Amino acid sequence: VPVSQLLRRPTDIIGSAENAAHPNIPLPRDLYGPNRRNSRGTEFGERAALEQLVSAIAAAPLPAPRSIADATESEANAAILAARDGFKHWARTPAETRAAMLEKAADVLERRAAHFIALLQREGGKTLDDSVSEVREAVDFCRYYAAEGRELFGEGKAMPGPTGESNMLCLRGRGVFVAISPWNFPLAIFLGQVTAALMAGNAVVAKPAEQTPLIAAEAVRLLHEAGVPASALHLVAGDGRIGGALVAHPDIAGVVFTGSTEVARTINRALAAKDGPIVPLIAETGGINAMLVDATALPEQVSDDVVTSAFRSAGQRCSALRLLFLQDDVADRMIEMIAGAARELVIGDPSDPATHIGPVIDAEAKQRLDAHIERMKKEAQVHFVGNTPQGNYVAPHIFELSDASELTEEVFGPVLHVVRYRADRFEQVLQSVERTGYGLTLGIHSRIDDTVEDAIERLQVGNIYVNRNMIGAVVGVQPFGGHGLSGTGPKAGGPHYLARFATEQTVTINT
Ligand code: GLU
Repeated sequence: VPVSQLLRRPTDIIGSAENAAHPNIPLPRDLYGPNRRNSRGTEFGERAALEQLVSAIAAAPLPAPRSIADATESEANAAILAARDGFKHWARTPAETRAAMLEKAADVLERRAAHFIALLQREGGKTLDDSVSEVREAVDFCRYYAAEGRELFGEGKAMPGPTGESNMLCLRGRGVFVAISPWNFPLAIFLGQVTAALMAGNAVVAKPAEQTPLIAAEAVRLLHEAGVPASALHLVAGDGRIGGALVAHPDIAGVVFTGSTEVARTINRALAAKDGPIVPLIAETGGINAMLVDATALPEQVSDDVVTSAFRSAGQRCSALRLLFLQDDVADRMIEMIAGAARELVIGDPSDPATHIGPVIDAEAKQRLDAHIERMKKEAQVHFVGNTPQGNYVAPHIFELSDASELTEEVFGPVLHVVRYRADRFEQVLQSVERTGYGLTLGIHSRIDDTVEDAIERLQVGNIYVNRNMIGAVVGVQPFGGHGLSGTGPKAGGPHYLARFATEQTVTINT
């Protein structure tokens, strides 16, 4: 079932990628990633390049996005069966050819950056800054997995032949991989999952978040244009019920999922219960991510990094800071500086380059966050309440808890929870972090080596950032993913990722 049959009116969705007059401007190189720009992370490096990009986005001839019809359960099943057929051909396509397709997709994505940025802003509500970072990350995923895949899936690995036989170990695709992706990185995580699975030789059925199917449809169209056969890559739009139908199908060979811990558990149960082969799950889920700040930290840097980590992207990142532990002697001063910096943030229209914080994803997310904020106003000490504009916006808030255990779930928005600690109680801070059960990101601001080493050794956390912000892991530089309630590993954008999408085959030949 090619994508065009699952989307009810395919050419009518958004200006067709082929027909739109895409402004051919490359993504300015130093405009992406909170950690790849100039050191303060709040100013763009090249004004002129940014202005060129903004006018190209405004000129991008995109009709208002329309909706994509959800697939029915029988369409979802048909997509799995079609992918099963597609796998036969795709698995025999040389790794070099697969890699070249991903690189072609990366080139086209870069050329059409303005088109994708406009979509990320309109459908995902992402700021210009975040949208540019995201397109760059998506490009990086395509190129990184292409390069890694060439190495891993090219020639097999010759093993020793002590018995006089020749032994080869090869990695091969598993079959049909189901990729279920979130709305918070509707392009980068979507493409990261899909390109990894494809590079490893799998056919893919991708189910994007129900909030962001248009971006996914454009990404699929891009890969098809780059040469990935329609039979090897299928898009199935829909909500959790459709995801449920896909993971319960007896003909799937793997699932890659990014989203909540609760849904990861549901998928795991479905996989365990179903007929057919034993199916691996690669899950990247949430976190109650902490930052530990002692009295040796540099206050301006802490303030900058806390604001970036907790409020950027409206706090809608798995990696975002939720729990800030401040040593009590510096806590008041730090809170004052952080609140001062939060007050400067511009909340509003994501297409305005001056905006720091755009809307949250939908009314449901806003309601959940508002309810949490109301509860905190009653139960916690209130340090900062930002001004929230009309619409699906949530302004930054800062609350202080008397104990970290009062935060029992991931709050997916710009709400920072502060906990004070005494210098002689650092052990309890480490225990509090351990007790959350999550292990995605951790920030440490300290100039004391023992403190830093202690935290790194003790805490089973996937990504630890010392004396800097804790978001925006760079593909191929900071492989990303967590432990415990935060996921199964392997890390996206890291050297061990692709192998987990594959199966191994040893061939012994008696020569
Ligand atoms: N990789 C992103 C980061 O480092 C977070 C991904 C997510 O939110 O799922 O900020």
